[in-house]
Amino acid sequence: MPIETKNVETLALHGGSYRSDPATGAVAVPIYQTTSYQFENTDHASRLFALEAIGQIYTRIKNPTQDAFEERLAAIEGGVGALAVASGQTASAFAIFNIAQAGDNVVSSTDLYGGTWTLFSQTLKQFGVEVRFVDPADPENFRRATDAKTRAYYAETLPNPKLNVFPIREVADIGRSLGVPLILDNTAAPVIARPFEHGAAIVVYSTTKYIGGHGTSIGGAIIDGGNFDWEAHASRFPLLTQPDEAYHGAVWTEAAKPLGPIAYILRARVKLLRDLGAAIAPQNAFQFIQGLETLPLRLRQHNENAIKVANFLVKHPAISHVIFPGLQSGANRRRADIYLKGGYGALVGFELKGGVDAGRRFIDALRLFYHVANIGDARSLAIHPASTTHQQLSAEEQLAAGVTPGYVRLSVGIEHPDDILADLNQALAHADAGARKAA
Ligand code: PLP
Repeated sequence: MPIETKNVETLALHGGSYRSDPATGAVAVPIYQTTSYQFENTDHASRLFALEAIGQIYTRIKNPTQDAFEERLAAIEGGVGALAVASGQTASAFAIFNIAQAGDNVVSSTDLYGGTWTLFSQTLKQFGVEVRFVDPADPENFRRATDAKTRAYYAETLPNPKLNVFPIREVADIGRSLGVPLILDNTAAPVIARPFEHGAAIVVYSTTKYIGGHGTSIGGAIIDGGNFDWEAHASRFPLLTQPDEAYHGAVWTEAAKPLGPIAYILRARVKLLRDLGAAIAPQNAFQFIQGLETLPLRLRQHNENAIKVANFLVKHPAISHVIFPGLQSGANRRRADIYLKGGYGALVGFELKGGVDAGRRFIDALRLFYHVANIGDARSLAIHPASTTHQQLSAEEQLAAGVTPGYVRLSVGIEHPDDILADLNQALAHADAGARKAA
Protein backbone atom coordinates (compact mmCIF):
# COMPACT_ATOMS: atom_id res chain seq x y z
CA MET A 1 0.00 0.00 0.00
CA PRO A 2 1.40 3.44 -0.90
CA ILE A 3 2.21 5.68 2.08
CA GLU A 4 -0.65 8.13 2.75
CA THR A 5 0.82 11.62 3.05
CA LYS A 6 0.95 14.91 1.23
CA ASN A 7 4.45 15.76 2.45
CA VAL A 8 6.83 15.89 -0.51
CA GLU A 9 9.89 14.99 1.59
CA THR A 10 8.25 11.65 2.44
CA LEU A 11 6.76 11.10 -1.03
CA ALA A 12 10.20 11.65 -2.56
CA LEU A 13 11.36 8.50 -0.73
CA HIS A 14 8.16 6.46 -0.51
CA GLY A 15 5.71 7.75 -3.15
CA GLY A 16 4.10 5.18 -5.45
CA SER A 17 3.46 1.47 -5.01
CA TYR A 18 7.10 0.31 -4.95
CA ARG A 19 8.12 -0.84 -1.47
CA SER A 20 10.70 -3.49 -2.26
CA ASP A 21 11.52 -5.68 -5.21
CA PRO A 22 8.96 -8.52 -5.39
CA ALA A 23 11.62 -10.99 -6.56
CA THR A 24 14.47 -10.23 -4.11
CA GLY A 25 13.23 -7.79 -1.46
CA ALA A 26 15.77 -5.20 -2.65
CA VAL A 27 14.90 -1.83 -1.12
CA ALA A 28 16.55 0.32 -3.77
CA VAL A 29 14.60 0.10 -7.04
CA PRO A 30 16.53 -2.36 -9.25
CA ILE A 31 17.59 -1.37 -12.75
CA TYR A 32 15.52 -3.73 -14.87
CA GLN A 33 17.93 -3.81 -17.78
CA THR A 34 15.75 -5.93 -20.04
CA THR A 35 14.01 -5.35 -23.35
CA SER A 36 11.23 -7.90 -22.91
CA TYR A 37 9.24 -9.95 -20.42
CA GLN A 38 8.22 -13.61 -20.45
CA PHE A 39 4.42 -13.94 -20.81
CA GLU A 40 2.67 -16.41 -18.52
CA ASN A 41 0.87 -18.04 -21.46
CA THR A 42 -0.79 -17.06 -24.74
CA ASP A 43 -3.96 -15.88 -23.03
CA HIS A 44 -1.96 -13.58 -20.73
CA ALA A 45 -0.04 -12.22 -23.73
CA SER A 46 -3.27 -11.50 -25.65
CA ARG A 47 -4.82 -9.72 -22.70
CA LEU A 48 -1.72 -7.52 -22.27
CA PHE A 49 -1.72 -6.54 -25.94
CA ALA A 50 -5.48 -5.81 -25.82
CA LEU A 51 -4.91 -3.61 -22.72
CA GLU A 52 -7.30 -5.89 -20.78
CA ALA A 53 -4.48 -6.51 -18.32
CA ILE A 54 -1.77 -4.02 -17.38
CA GLY A 55 1.73 -5.43 -17.31
CA GLN A 56 5.11 -5.50 -18.94
CA ILE A 57 5.41 -6.29 -22.64
CA TYR A 58 8.45 -4.47 -24.01
CA THR A 59 10.67 -1.75 -22.52
CA ARG A 60 9.90 0.77 -25.29
CA ILE A 61 6.42 1.05 -23.73
CA LYS A 62 6.95 0.31 -20.04
CA ASN A 63 9.61 -1.02 -17.63
CA PRO A 64 9.51 -1.68 -13.85
CA THR A 65 12.29 0.83 -13.05
CA GLN A 66 10.48 3.42 -15.15
CA ASP A 67 7.17 2.53 -13.41
CA ALA A 68 8.65 3.24 -9.98
CA PHE A 69 10.04 6.57 -11.15
CA GLU A 70 6.76 7.61 -12.78
CA GLU A 71 4.63 6.68 -9.79
CA ARG A 72 6.88 8.53 -7.38
CA LEU A 73 7.02 11.62 -9.56
CA ALA A 74 3.22 11.65 -9.97
CA ALA A 75 2.84 11.29 -6.18
CA ILE A 76 5.18 14.22 -5.48
CA GLU A 77 3.47 16.42 -8.06
CA GLY A 78 -0.07 15.50 -6.97
CA GLY A 79 -0.99 14.01 -10.37
CA VAL A 80 -2.82 10.80 -11.28
CA GLY A 81 -0.17 9.35 -13.55
CA ALA A 82 3.11 10.11 -15.29
CA LEU A 83 5.02 9.08 -18.36
CA ALA A 84 8.82 9.22 -18.33
CA VAL A 85 10.49 9.75 -21.71
CA ALA A 86 13.95 10.12 -23.22
CA SER A 87 14.35 13.90 -22.76
CA GLY A 88 12.60 17.11 -21.80
CA GLN A 89 12.24 17.89 -25.49
CA THR A 90 10.29 14.66 -25.99
CA ALA A 91 8.07 15.50 -23.02
CA SER A 92 7.13 18.87 -24.56
CA ALA A 93 6.58 17.39 -28.02
CA PHE A 94 4.50 14.45 -26.75
CA ALA A 95 2.44 16.73 -24.49
CA ILE A 96 1.25 18.55 -27.62
CA PHE A 97 1.09 15.64 -30.07
CA ASN A 98 -1.15 13.76 -27.64
CA ILE A 99 -4.05 16.14 -28.26
CA ALA A 100 -3.19 18.15 -31.42
CA GLN A 101 -3.03 17.11 -35.07
CA ALA A 102 -2.56 18.88 -38.41
CA GLY A 103 -4.92 21.88 -38.66
CA ASP A 104 -5.02 22.43 -34.88
CA ASN A 105 -3.30 25.16 -32.90
CA VAL A 106 -1.73 25.76 -29.50
CA VAL A 107 -1.40 29.13 -27.74
CA SER A 108 1.99 29.45 -26.09
CA SER A 109 3.76 31.98 -23.93
CA THR A 110 6.64 33.75 -25.70
CA ASP A 111 8.85 33.13 -22.63
CA LEU A 112 10.22 29.71 -23.48
CA TYR A 113 13.41 27.66 -23.39
CA GLY A 114 15.13 28.03 -26.81
CA GLY A 115 14.70 24.34 -27.69
CA THR A 116 10.96 24.53 -27.05
CA TRP A 117 10.78 27.72 -29.11
CA THR A 118 12.36 25.98 -32.11
CA LEU A 119 10.19 22.89 -31.66
CA PHE A 120 7.07 25.06 -31.62
CA SER A 121 7.95 27.62 -34.29
CA GLN A 122 9.61 25.23 -36.79
CA THR A 123 9.01 21.53 -36.21
CA LEU A 124 5.36 21.58 -35.10
CA LYS A 125 4.67 23.78 -38.12
CA GLN A 126 6.03 21.00 -40.37
CA PHE A 127 3.44 18.69 -38.81
CA GLY A 128 0.66 21.20 -39.49
CA VAL A 129 0.23 22.33 -35.87
CA GLU A 130 0.31 26.11 -35.55
CA VAL A 131 1.69 27.66 -32.36
CA ARG A 132 0.40 31.16 -31.59
CA PHE A 133 2.86 32.98 -29.34
CA VAL A 134 1.45 35.52 -26.88
CA ASP A 135 2.94 37.78 -24.21
CA PRO A 136 2.06 36.21 -20.82
CA ALA A 137 2.20 39.58 -19.03
CA ASP A 138 -1.49 39.95 -19.96
CA PRO A 139 -3.29 36.62 -19.38
CA GLU A 140 -6.17 37.81 -21.59
CA ASN A 141 -3.81 37.40 -24.57
CA PHE A 142 -4.45 33.66 -24.27
CA ARG A 143 -8.21 34.15 -24.60
CA ARG A 144 -7.79 36.48 -27.58
CA ALA A 145 -5.66 33.92 -29.47
CA THR A 146 -8.08 31.01 -28.83
CA ASP A 147 -10.43 29.61 -31.45
CA ALA A 148 -12.33 26.36 -32.06
CA LYS A 149 -9.12 24.62 -33.15
CA THR A 150 -7.11 25.51 -30.02
CA ARG A 151 -6.07 22.34 -28.21
CA ALA A 152 -3.84 23.62 -25.40
CA TYR A 153 -2.15 26.55 -23.70
CA TYR A 154 1.58 26.11 -23.03
CA ALA A 155 3.99 27.98 -20.77
CA GLU A 156 6.90 27.66 -18.34
CA THR A 157 6.40 28.33 -14.64
CA LEU A 158 9.75 30.13 -14.21
CA PRO A 159 11.18 30.95 -17.65
CA ASN A 160 14.71 32.25 -17.96
CA PRO A 161 16.24 34.70 -18.66
CA LYS A 162 13.41 37.03 -17.60
CA LEU A 163 12.38 34.90 -14.58
CA ASN A 164 8.85 36.36 -14.64
CA VAL A 165 6.65 33.75 -12.96
CA PHE A 166 3.78 32.70 -15.24
CA PRO A 167 0.22 33.72 -14.24
CA ILE A 168 -0.83 30.09 -13.75
CA ARG A 169 -4.28 30.48 -12.17
CA GLU A 170 -5.27 33.39 -14.41
CA VAL A 171 -4.52 31.50 -17.65
CA ALA A 172 -5.74 28.12 -16.37
CA ASP A 173 -9.10 29.72 -15.51
CA ILE A 174 -9.43 31.28 -18.97
CA GLY A 175 -8.62 27.89 -20.47
CA ARG A 176 -11.13 26.05 -18.31
CA SER A 177 -13.89 28.50 -19.27
CA LEU A 178 -13.14 27.79 -22.96
CA GLY A 179 -12.34 24.07 -22.64
CA VAL A 180 -8.57 24.43 -23.17
CA PRO A 181 -6.05 22.69 -20.83
CA LEU A 182 -2.93 24.46 -19.56
CA ILE A 183 0.30 22.50 -20.04
CA LEU A 184 3.04 23.86 -17.80
CA ASP A 185 6.78 23.18 -18.04
CA ASN A 186 7.79 23.19 -14.38
CA THR A 187 11.45 22.28 -14.99
CA ALA A 188 12.90 25.29 -13.16
CA ALA A 189 10.58 25.09 -10.14
CA PRO A 190 9.94 21.51 -8.98
CA VAL A 191 8.60 21.26 -5.42
CA ILE A 192 8.47 25.07 -5.04
CA ALA A 193 5.67 25.46 -7.61
CA ARG A 194 2.59 23.21 -7.50
CA PRO A 195 0.91 23.81 -10.89
CA PHE A 196 -2.02 21.42 -10.36
CA GLU A 197 -3.06 23.34 -7.24
CA HIS A 198 -3.47 26.43 -9.45
CA GLY A 199 -5.48 24.83 -12.26
CA ALA A 200 -2.84 23.47 -14.66
CA ALA A 201 -3.97 20.22 -16.35
CA ILE A 202 -0.64 18.76 -17.44
CA VAL A 203 2.91 19.29 -16.12
CA VAL A 204 6.05 18.56 -18.12
CA TYR A 205 9.64 18.34 -16.92
CA SER A 206 13.09 18.14 -18.28
CA THR A 207 14.16 15.73 -15.53
CA THR A 208 17.71 16.37 -16.78
CA LYS A 209 17.78 19.41 -14.46
CA TYR A 210 16.76 19.52 -10.76
CA ILE A 211 15.02 16.15 -10.67
CA GLY A 212 18.20 14.36 -11.74
CA GLY A 213 20.16 16.98 -9.88
CA HIS A 214 23.60 15.55 -10.53
CA GLY A 215 24.11 16.27 -14.21
CA THR A 216 24.34 12.59 -15.18
CA SER A 217 21.31 11.81 -17.35
CA ILE A 218 18.98 13.27 -19.98
CA GLY A 219 15.29 12.59 -19.41
CA GLY A 220 11.81 14.05 -19.36
CA ALA A 221 8.37 13.42 -17.93
CA ILE A 222 4.72 14.29 -18.49
CA ILE A 223 2.37 14.26 -15.50
CA ASP A 224 -1.40 14.13 -15.83
CA GLY A 225 -3.29 16.17 -13.22
CA GLY A 226 -6.42 14.07 -13.86
CA ASN A 227 -8.36 17.30 -13.36
CA PHE A 228 -9.45 18.16 -16.90
CA ASP A 229 -12.79 16.96 -18.26
CA TRP A 230 -11.90 15.93 -21.83
CA GLU A 231 -15.38 14.52 -22.46
CA ALA A 232 -17.08 17.80 -21.53
CA HIS A 233 -15.19 19.40 -24.43
CA ALA A 234 -15.25 16.35 -26.68
CA SER A 235 -15.25 18.30 -29.96
CA ARG A 236 -11.86 19.83 -29.06
CA PHE A 237 -10.27 16.48 -28.25
CA PRO A 238 -11.20 13.93 -30.92
CA LEU A 239 -7.87 12.14 -30.31
CA LEU A 240 -9.09 11.25 -26.80
CA THR A 241 -12.84 11.00 -27.31
CA GLN A 242 -13.25 9.41 -30.79
CA PRO A 243 -12.54 5.78 -31.71
CA ASP A 244 -8.86 5.17 -32.40
CA GLU A 245 -8.35 2.98 -35.46
CA ALA A 246 -4.84 2.12 -34.38
CA TYR A 247 -6.28 0.34 -31.30
CA HIS A 248 -9.34 -1.53 -32.57
CA GLY A 249 -11.50 1.58 -32.23
CA ALA A 250 -10.64 2.22 -28.55
CA VAL A 251 -11.96 5.52 -27.15
CA TRP A 252 -9.32 6.63 -24.66
CA THR A 253 -11.68 8.46 -22.33
CA GLU A 254 -13.77 5.24 -22.13
CA ALA A 255 -10.83 2.84 -21.94
CA ALA A 256 -9.35 4.76 -19.02
CA LYS A 257 -12.54 4.77 -16.92
CA PRO A 258 -11.84 1.57 -14.90
CA LEU A 259 -8.31 2.88 -14.16
CA GLY A 260 -9.12 6.48 -13.16
CA PRO A 261 -8.99 9.87 -14.90
CA ILE A 262 -5.88 8.92 -16.86
CA ALA A 263 -7.08 9.07 -20.49
CA TYR A 264 -4.44 11.62 -21.47
CA ILE A 265 -1.42 9.87 -19.98
CA LEU A 266 -2.63 6.41 -21.04
CA ARG A 267 -2.84 7.50 -24.67
CA ALA A 268 0.58 9.18 -24.47
CA ARG A 269 2.13 5.87 -23.46
CA VAL A 270 0.31 3.36 -25.61
CA LYS A 271 0.19 5.52 -28.74
CA LEU A 272 3.07 8.01 -28.74
CA LEU A 273 5.67 5.98 -26.91
CA ARG A 274 4.69 2.87 -28.85
CA ASP A 275 4.80 4.62 -32.23
CA LEU A 276 7.50 7.27 -31.81
CA GLY A 277 9.66 5.28 -29.42
CA ALA A 278 11.47 7.95 -27.35
CA ALA A 279 11.62 5.66 -24.29
CA ILE A 280 13.67 6.44 -21.20
CA ALA A 281 16.57 4.03 -20.56
CA PRO A 282 16.08 1.96 -17.35
CA GLN A 283 19.50 3.14 -16.13
CA ASN A 284 18.38 6.77 -16.47
CA ALA A 285 15.05 6.10 -14.76
CA PHE A 286 17.12 4.73 -11.86
CA GLN A 287 19.29 7.87 -11.78
CA PHE A 288 16.16 10.02 -11.63
CA ILE A 289 14.78 7.98 -8.73
CA GLN A 290 18.02 8.73 -6.87
CA GLY A 291 17.53 12.40 -7.73
CA LEU A 292 13.92 12.45 -6.52
CA GLU A 293 14.89 11.09 -3.11
CA THR A 294 16.80 14.26 -2.19
CA LEU A 295 14.94 16.72 -4.42
CA PRO A 296 13.04 18.59 -1.66
CA LEU A 297 16.18 18.74 0.48
CA ARG A 298 18.34 20.02 -2.37
CA LEU A 299 15.75 22.59 -3.41
CA ARG A 300 15.79 24.04 0.09
CA GLN A 301 19.53 24.65 -0.15
CA HIS A 302 19.32 25.91 -3.74
CA ASN A 303 16.65 28.39 -2.67
CA GLU A 304 18.58 29.66 0.35
CA ASN A 305 21.83 30.03 -1.57
CA ALA A 306 20.17 31.83 -4.48
CA ILE A 307 18.65 34.42 -2.15
CA LYS A 308 22.10 35.06 -0.66
CA VAL A 309 23.63 35.34 -4.13
CA ALA A 310 20.95 37.76 -5.35
CA ASN A 311 21.36 39.96 -2.27
CA PHE A 312 25.14 39.99 -2.75
CA LEU A 313 25.00 40.81 -6.48
CA VAL A 314 22.48 43.61 -6.11
CA LYS A 315 25.01 45.58 -4.02
CA HIS A 316 28.00 44.96 -6.31
CA PRO A 317 29.35 48.04 -8.17
CA ALA A 318 30.21 46.12 -11.38
CA ILE A 319 26.56 45.09 -11.82
CA SER A 320 23.82 47.31 -13.18
CA HIS A 321 20.85 45.02 -12.71
CA VAL A 322 19.96 41.71 -11.00
CA ILE A 323 17.13 39.50 -12.28
CA PHE A 324 15.63 37.34 -9.53
CA PRO A 325 11.95 36.77 -8.67
CA GLY A 326 12.58 37.77 -5.04
CA LEU A 327 13.91 41.17 -6.13
CA GLN A 328 11.07 41.99 -8.53
CA SER A 329 8.20 44.38 -7.84
CA GLY A 330 4.63 44.85 -9.06
CA ALA A 331 2.70 42.05 -10.79
CA ASN A 332 5.81 39.89 -11.29
CA ARG A 333 6.63 39.90 -7.58
CA ARG A 334 3.01 39.21 -6.64
CA ARG A 335 2.99 36.19 -8.95
CA ALA A 336 6.32 34.98 -7.60
CA ASP A 337 4.94 35.14 -4.06
CA ILE A 338 1.70 33.36 -4.99
CA TYR A 339 3.14 30.59 -7.15
CA LEU A 340 6.56 29.89 -5.60
CA LYS A 341 6.75 28.59 -2.05
CA GLY A 342 9.81 28.12 0.12
CA GLY A 343 12.03 30.25 -2.11
CA TYR A 344 12.35 31.76 -5.56
CA GLY A 345 14.30 29.00 -7.31
CA ALA A 346 18.00 28.86 -8.02
CA LEU A 347 18.29 30.86 -11.22
CA VAL A 348 19.78 34.33 -10.89
CA GLY A 349 20.57 36.65 -13.80
CA PHE A 350 22.60 39.83 -13.78
CA GLU A 351 23.86 42.48 -16.14
CA LEU A 352 27.50 43.52 -16.03
CA LYS A 353 28.13 47.21 -16.63
CA GLY A 354 31.14 46.25 -18.79
CA GLY A 355 28.97 44.50 -21.47
CA VAL A 356 30.09 41.55 -23.62
CA ASP A 357 33.79 41.75 -22.74
CA ALA A 358 33.11 41.88 -19.02
CA GLY A 359 30.77 38.91 -19.41
CA ARG A 360 33.52 36.86 -21.06
CA ARG A 361 36.11 37.90 -18.47
CA PHE A 362 33.75 37.03 -15.62
CA ILE A 363 33.07 33.55 -16.98
CA ASP A 364 36.73 32.84 -17.70
CA ALA A 365 37.71 33.83 -14.15
CA LEU A 366 35.24 31.48 -12.41
CA ARG A 367 36.86 28.65 -10.43
CA LEU A 368 34.04 26.94 -8.54
CA PHE A 369 31.15 27.61 -10.96
CA TYR A 370 31.17 25.42 -14.06
CA HIS A 371 30.77 27.12 -17.43
CA VAL A 372 28.06 24.95 -19.03
CA ALA A 373 24.81 25.18 -21.01
CA ASN A 374 22.73 23.60 -18.28
CA ILE A 375 20.74 24.41 -15.16
CA GLY A 376 19.63 22.51 -12.09
CA ASP A 377 22.82 20.67 -11.16
CA ALA A 378 23.80 20.36 -7.49
CA ARG A 379 26.96 22.24 -8.55
CA SER A 380 26.87 25.96 -9.33
CA LEU A 381 26.75 26.71 -13.06
CA ALA A 382 27.13 29.86 -15.13
CA ILE A 383 26.80 30.96 -18.74
CA HIS A 384 27.15 34.17 -20.73
CA PRO A 385 24.39 33.77 -23.36
CA ALA A 386 25.52 36.61 -25.68
CA SER A 387 28.79 34.79 -26.44
CA THR A 388 27.34 31.24 -26.40
CA THR A 389 23.71 30.05 -26.59
CA HIS A 390 22.42 33.26 -28.21
CA GLN A 391 25.47 34.26 -30.33
CA GLN A 392 23.71 33.37 -33.64
CA LEU A 393 20.88 35.84 -32.94
CA SER A 394 20.97 39.49 -34.04
CA ALA A 395 21.25 42.16 -31.34
CA GLU A 396 17.49 42.81 -31.64
CA GLU A 397 16.63 39.12 -31.40
CA GLN A 398 18.87 38.80 -28.36
CA LEU A 399 17.07 41.71 -26.72
CA ALA A 400 13.65 40.21 -27.52
CA ALA A 401 14.81 37.00 -25.82
CA GLY A 402 15.84 39.05 -22.76
CA VAL A 403 19.57 38.61 -23.44
CA THR A 404 21.57 41.83 -23.09
CA PRO A 405 25.35 42.01 -23.90
CA GLY A 406 26.57 41.79 -20.31
CA TYR A 407 23.92 39.35 -19.12
CA VAL A 408 25.11 36.32 -17.14
CA ARG A 409 22.88 33.46 -15.97
CA LEU A 410 23.70 31.59 -12.80
CA SER A 411 22.21 28.30 -11.66
CA VAL A 412 23.13 28.45 -8.00
CA GLY A 413 24.19 25.12 -6.53
CA ILE A 414 24.13 23.63 -3.06
CA GLU A 415 27.77 24.26 -2.08
CA HIS A 416 28.44 26.26 1.10
CA PRO A 417 27.17 29.80 0.37
CA ASP A 418 30.46 31.38 1.52
CA ASP A 419 32.34 29.50 -1.21
CA ILE A 420 29.79 30.45 -3.87
CA LEU A 421 29.99 34.13 -2.90
CA ALA A 422 33.81 34.03 -2.76
CA ASP A 423 33.99 32.69 -6.31
CA LEU A 424 31.54 35.29 -7.61
CA ASN A 425 33.45 38.01 -5.80
CA GLN A 426 36.82 37.14 -7.31
CA ALA A 427 35.39 36.66 -10.83
CA LEU A 428 33.57 40.00 -10.61
CA ALA A 429 36.83 41.66 -9.59
CA HIS A 430 38.41 40.28 -12.79
CA ALA A 431 35.50 41.47 -14.94
CA ASP A 432 35.60 44.91 -13.34
CA ALA A 433 39.40 45.32 -13.47
CA GLY A 434 39.33 44.54 -17.20
CA ALA A 435 36.51 47.01 -17.78
CA ARG A 436 38.48 49.78 -16.02
CA LYS A 437 41.64 48.99 -18.00
CA ALA A 438 39.66 49.17 -21.26
CA ALA A 439 38.20 52.55 -20.25
N1 PLP B 1 12.38 22.81 -20.72
C1 PLP B 1 13.24 23.63 -20.09
C2 PLP B 1 12.72 24.75 -19.24
C3 PLP B 1 14.63 23.46 -20.25
O1 PLP B 1 15.48 24.28 -19.61
C4 PLP B 1 15.09 22.40 -21.08
C5 PLP B 1 16.55 22.19 -21.30
O2 PLP B 1 17.36 23.04 -21.02
C6 PLP B 1 14.16 21.58 -21.71
C7 PLP B 1 12.81 21.80 -21.50
C8 PLP B 1 14.59 20.46 -22.61
O3 PLP B 1 15.07 19.42 -21.83
P1 PLP B 1 16.13 18.31 -22.30
O4 PLP B 1 17.43 19.01 -22.48
O5 PLP B 1 16.10 17.31 -21.19
O6 PLP B 1 15.63 17.75 -23.60
